[in-house]
Amino acid sequence: MVRVMYWGLWNRPPTNPNKWIFEIDIADILDTKNLVFTFLHELGHLVTLNSSQVPPDLQVFNHPDNERIYNREAAACPYYFPGEGCSLPDYI
Ligand SMILES: [Zn+2]
Repeated sequence: MVRVMYWGLWNRPPTNPNKWIFEIDIADILDTKNLVFTFLHELGHLVTLNSSQVPPDLQVFNHPDNERIYNREAAACPYYFPGEGCSLPDYI
């Protein structure tokens, strides 16, 4: 069995594909070393995956559990597809 631990992550609110909600596991916040690492890691996502670099794919956003749509959109992306959309050509 593989156990996946998330210290922090970003989610989109279900009604707005251009916004993000930051979530952190408060059970682990006393571990300050990993807390700082998590904040820095998640800040990196904010800096490199924002809507001006990776416009949200509305098909994926509106059908988040549809693997066929996800695979179709990912295959159609000529650049980097991190899951939320296709990056723009001048993406870092
Ligand atoms: Zn991450």
